[in-house]
Amino acid sequence: MTTIDDITAPVLVLVDTTPDGAPAPSTGALLGAAAAIGTPVAVVAAADHVNRAAALGAGGVIVAGGDRTDALTAAIARIRTDAVVLSHSVEGREVAARLAVRARAAVAVDAVRISRDHEGVIAHHSVYGGAYDVVSAATFGPPIITIRQGSIDARAGAVASPPVEHLDTPASQRRSARFGTLTPIPSSSSRPDLRGAARVVAGGRGLGSAEKFALVEDLADALGAAVGASRAAVDAGYVAHAHQVGQTGVSVSPQLYIALGISGAVQHKAGMQTAKTIVAINKDADAPIFEIADFGVVGDVFTVVPQLITALDANAKR
Ligand code: FAD
Repeated sequence: MTTIDDITAPVLVLVDTTPDGAPAPSTGALLGAAAAIGTPVAVVAAADHVNRAAALGAGGVIVAGGDRTDALTAAIARIRTDAVVLSHSVEGREVAARLAVRARAAVAVDAVRISRDHEGVIAHHSVYGGAYDVVSAATFGPPIITIRQGSIDARAGAVASPPVEHLDTPASQRRSARFGTLTPIPSSSSRPDLRGAARVVAGGRGLGSAEKFALVEDLADALGAAVGASRAAVDAGYVAHAHQVGQTGVSVSPQLYIALGISGAVQHKAGMQTAKTIVAINKDADAPIFEIADFGVVGDVFTVVPQLITALDANAKR
């Protein structure tokens, strides 16, 4: 029977949990990223997460409850991993930092891809608002890498019956941060969450008013997309701050990002430049957003977008 010890090039992946205790939606991307450099070994909090981890490509599963840093510390002691991969979520960042101190390992944060060469594992980062791609590697030991949410397309194939091991993780009593209370904010719309959305339609100051910002929402609904905004649109009160994309807002890496009436300031680009396809509609042909757009329309959003919505609706009815 295959055991955890038989796994070649194991890469530990911490599976985040949602507030209601299920494996987080980031799991597939983390296992997909790990599969690019070895065999993903998922570290899950509960035995009933094993099947989900296997379905998403875990070549091995370690079940270790309790504090997540304690669980990963025990997993590192159990197998000789080539890297540790976590989500760049609030919890993932917290655990990565503490684990790095405990394991005396290097930490690389906010990676958008991982790869390996003959010397070891490499983390790829998109920095300074996406203006530079940089790589980082540990000079010693397995690196601990947090992965930007939404940045990984690759998915690992399902694994039929991966080896599973249960680890006892006695509480270390070391310092850690825990969520005190979690209060879900009821969603006021049926649109997808901005973080992790596959499509985002964002509006800027060019929309002109809160009432006219409804155009952004109309296009988002026609595409099943989340709604984003520039800071100027948020500051002007067109839309709530939770929708702000950029340096002081949310970072997104969707498949499709449509920027309406957004100039493309470096602080905005910082939060969306890793989108796979960028479409910009702006009446100023010299707007910097066109420098990073895959498709650009020089025109008035109030003329172009209604036509786009009509075309999408017509296409949907076919
Ligand atoms: P503008 O720059 O005013 O651009 C509006 C655009 O709309 C123009 O290009 C114009 O041609 C176009 N337009 C106008 N009318 C129409 C029309 N009818 N049809 C088509 N196009 C039209 N910004 C962010 O977005 N996110 C951040 O997180 C962020 N953080 C920041 C942090 C710091 C420390 C600082 C200093 C700034 C930050 N900013 C951020 C602000 C940023 O510098 C810009 O001011 C902001 O992004 C501009 O928003 P905008 O593109 O909507 O507005």
